Amino acid sequence: MSHLNPLPVIGRDEPPYEDPLDLMDEIDRLKVEKDATILAHFYVDGEIQDIADYTGDSLKLARDATRVEQSTIVFAGVHFMAESAKIMNPDKKVLLPDLLAGCSLAESCPPDRLHAFQEELREEGRDFETVAYINTSAAVKSLCDWIVTSGNARELIEERVPKDKEILFVPDQHLGRYLMEVTGREMILWPGACMVHEVFSLQDLMRAKRNNPGALVVSHPECPQNILEVSDFVGGTEKIRQFCMEHQEPKVILVATESEMIHALKKSAPQHEYIPVPGIMTDTGETCACNRCPHMARNTLQKVRDCLRDGQPEILWQPYFDKAKDVLERSLLENKRQSSDMNGD
Ligand code: SF4
Repeated sequence: MSHLNPLPVIGRDEPPYEDPLDLMDEIDRLKVEKDATILAHFYVDGEIQDIADYTGDSLKLARDATRVEQSTIVFAGVHFMAESAKIMNPDKKVLLPDLLAGCSLAESCPPDRLHAFQEELREEGRDFETVAYINTSAAVKSLCDWIVTSGNARELIEERVPKDKEILFVPDQHLGRYLMEVTGREMILWPGACMVHEVFSLQDLMRAKRNNPGALVVSHPECPQNILEVSDFVGGTEKIRQFCMEHQEPKVILVATESEMIHALKKSAPQHEYIPVPGIMTDTGETCACNRCPHMARNTLQKVRDCLRDGQPEILWQPYFDKAKDVLERSLLENKRQSSDMNGD
């Protein structure tokens, strides 16, 4: 018997190829059989967006989920989004096609570290409220006073966070800096960032602008400040979609957010030409033209089919979901004016 370890076989873990059209037929059949509906984020593969019953940003999808009649929701997105859908819909079964679909931004703020930092600030006698971007785990949401999206953050901070309180903003430092600028409030910023938006390169964006005279630049507020400063429009995914729809005259639009978003933009506003803004890998200095979120990319048609068929992986109710639900509802559902202007990642 050989004592040599077997060499790893490249591609051995890849699932066998299955025809996407067959998979879509199977998914349609399983949806009826299992009384299920599919929600897909703008950043997942276009073919999953095409078979979904609802598409949108994280918060729009969580709100859509409160309106669906089916007993099961398949959330093609990442973990914190499926958690929010479950929190808003405790009686429904919420499935996430791949439990490993996380989020670098949410993971940059673990609940134990946030709790320890809040305690430190309290011991120093600081009087503050914690405002969290929706891209956080439910455990973190349960430690916060307010949850905001990129669409309602400014209003919520201006109108609902008392002026005599300091603000601890978590987890996205770029969004926090942008909000400090537009609200004029000082904030203690958590040093988190999204791995996708962090890599956008100003140099590549300026080159793309030069090569496309008259092009508009749309960017997500999770991008670094130097990208926002040269953008024609800054907003969450749903707001970017509306901005493109409102411009009737055909334009070249440079898109500084996850590149799969272009699928939704082409469907909603096909009159424009969309060009993804290339990014730069901070560790190697190489440019990268894809800007795909590796977590979103974990969602595949096969995994959507498998989770429908098997009824798992499922997001199960956790004890801290009750507190997170209070904070989410207070922040995002109770103010009708804000609820018409919401969007997240
Ligand atoms: S694009 Fe960034 S913020 Fe959005 S899910 Fe991926 S890692 Fe998280």
